[in-house]
Amino acid sequence: MLSEFRYCKLSKEWTLFAPERLLRPKDFSQNQNEAISQEEECPFDVHKEHLTPLGIAEIIQENAWQCRVVPNLYNALSIDVEVQSIKDGFFDKFSGFGAHEVLIETPLHDKQMVDYDYNNFSNYLTLLQQRTQNLQKDTRLAFLSIFKNQGQNAGASLSHAHTQLMAMPFLPKKMEEEIALKKSYFQEHKRALLDDLVYEERNFQKNIVCENSDFMVYCPYASKFAFEVKIASKKKLSSLVEFDAKDISALSDILHDFFQRFKRTLGLNVAFNMIFKNAPYRNYDANTKEYFRFSIEILPRIYKTAGFELDSEIYINVVLPEIAAQAYKESL
Ligand SMILES: [Zn+2]
Repeated sequence: MLSEFRYCKLSKEWTLFAPERLLRPKDFSQNQNEAISQEEECPFDVHKEHLTPLGIAEIIQENAWQCRVVPNLYNALSIDVEVQSIKDGFFDKFSGFGAHEVLIETPLHDKQMVDYDYNNFSNYLTLLQQRTQNLQKDTRLAFLSIFKNQGQNAGASLSHAHTQLMAMPFLPKKMEEEIALKKSYFQEHKRALLDDLVYEERNFQKNIVCENSDFMVYCPYASKFAFEVKIASKKKLSSLVEFDAKDISALSDILHDFFQRFKRTLGLNVAFNMIFKNAPYRNYDANTKEYFRFSIEILPRIYKTAGFELDSEIYINVVLPEIAAQAYKESL
């Protein structure tokens, strides 16, 4: 069965059904965070390129690829499907049109983001930017989700470090609401909402982890997850597509700084999700950067979320952000 989006008229939210995803390989055992025996071939390793679909983009240094992008073999969305809204009796559905790509961050099977140097981050961001710019050219795409699942608790099925890109023909409800809020805030105050939040965090002081000329890292005042971190752009940047070489360099620098703190504070094996908050493709123009500010969210998955969170969308967090920020700050 092909993937399809189905619409819930009650919650006004879409669900993506992707049966293909059931077939994907797993290298985590059922009960532990440890990888299963390494006998099975990892499709992301160097010299195993024949196990993935044909590459889309790569960065080569010293005659070897440093990171590469391939179509997701077990894709939830496909660019070859017709864009189609379908009536299914009383219900609404939408064809599984979109793009689903995997960025393999390193040729080394065991190297994790906490061990990346400045050059690793710079290659990684350069390639992410290339794909974000390239997919934007397809005017059928409204929204690109860029996310990393690290560790089984964060939803990863393969341990080899990778980031996923999923582009869709419409905006998720949450993003639509976020855009509306940011636009109306800008209309009222003539400032971006996140700029004001960063200003308030700066006055509050206690939640700031580190910063450089262009980016600030802080534990948000109302963090949902223990040791959650936000990396916010201090410059008027709304998306990776706007970054110049200096911006890429400043972000590589701050990611390198932060992940060293992350490793020293939480150890090597803490699962986390990392989410890139770019302005969506739909209605993107020269004014977007006035109200939408680029940021990255890093969400450690130390404690599990459960029924209360699913029902209320209110998260229970056992670590205050000022405690988390202090631990990160003092770790280097
Ligand atoms: Zn591997």
